[in-house]
Amino acid sequence: MTNSMDSLSALPLRDDLRGRSPYGAPMIDVPVTLNVNENTHPMPGEVVDAISRDVAAAALTLNRYPDREFSSLRQELASYLGHGLTAENLWAANGSNEILQQIMQVFGGPGRSVMSFVPTYSMYPLLADGTNTTFIAGYRAEDYSLSTELALAQIQEHRPNIVILCSPNNPTGTGLELGVIEAVYEAVAAYNGIVVVDEAYAEFAQDRSRNALTLLSGRPNLIVTRTMSKAFALAGARLGYFAAAPAVCDAVRLVRLPYHLSAVTQATAVAALRHRQQLLANVDDIRAQRDRIVDHLAGLGLKPAVSDSNFVFFGGLKDEKAAWQYLLDAGVLVRDNGIPGYLRVTAGTEAETSAFLEHMTAYIETFE
Ligand code: PMP
Repeated sequence: MTNSMDSLSALPLRDDLRGRSPYGAPMIDVPVTLNVNENTHPMPGEVVDAISRDVAAAALTLNRYPDREFSSLRQELASYLGHGLTAENLWAANGSNEILQQIMQVFGGPGRSVMSFVPTYSMYPLLADGTNTTFIAGYRAEDYSLSTELALAQIQEHRPNIVILCSPNNPTGTGLELGVIEAVYEAVAAYNGIVVVDEAYAEFAQDRSRNALTLLSGRPNLIVTRTMSKAFALAGARLGYFAAAPAVCDAVRLVRLPYHLSAVTQATAVAALRHRQQLLANVDDIRAQRDRIVDHLAGLGLKPAVSDSNFVFFGGLKDEKAAWQYLLDAGVLVRDNGIPGYLRVTAGTEAETSAFLEHMTAYIETFE
């Protein structure tokens, strides 16, 4: 029997996909799972009931294709976002991963490039590979910040077709100043490139009014992506979306699969948006747990980054792999992003956060 890697290499794979690794955050069943930046608070019962009712109604229609334009969902998203946006400005897909893939399919592709500034969300290069778009790994300052000067110098050198600014950035957690986004847009739009601001974690920002939706007006090449996987506690439903000029929605219609959002997905997301007050009620508690993690880790002598998200990236570890394993053995799963000295932890419920802090403290006191 050959092993699966031998079997894989025997297949007629595209040459540019040979030797590549798939997205692989470990899925390990432990009591405290704080490794993929989910909202770990339990779903409010009232919202579960509302979703169940609407999904049951949608089940009666499953013999038919769903609304290809997901009109109710786009209206609900526009009403949630505000900023004068209407359904024509909104587009949705199965997670913001699919949104980003559609953007690369339509504005990237063979002979074109996408640039982002690492360390950043690990799916960007994988989506670039999948769509045959060249990924350009821009760099950040030593403290992982990104200034206008640093971004512009690299953009001017490479002139990428698409620039993705992740704000708040994953894995570092810190949001970008709007001035950086404005300057990047000006430089990229000057040669008709596209700027994507990935705001998956926008609802957790220290200053929620500092977001790129405020920049959309008059910027036809700007796309702001969001997700219901984080603040809305809906990672399992797979619903990501973007806000942009209506022409950008027309562009992605060229590559989307027909009926890509199932009737069940649409019903779930609409019900969740209609109950957003209950769902988003946990966001403030998560922000409080996040701030608690930052304070506590700083007290241990570690170096937590400023966080505008629902997770904390912290450095100052002598051996992050040993720390990761120690926490796992204690039943707490966090994320090793492969950056020496650093780990990333999601802010959980108060009890989960306490478990993480307790074991982290014990580790530091015993081994570091
Ligand atoms: N963007 C960023 C920065 C993320 O961290 C994630 C999820 N970890 C996503 C996009 C994708 O989220 P989803 O596909 O669940 O919307």
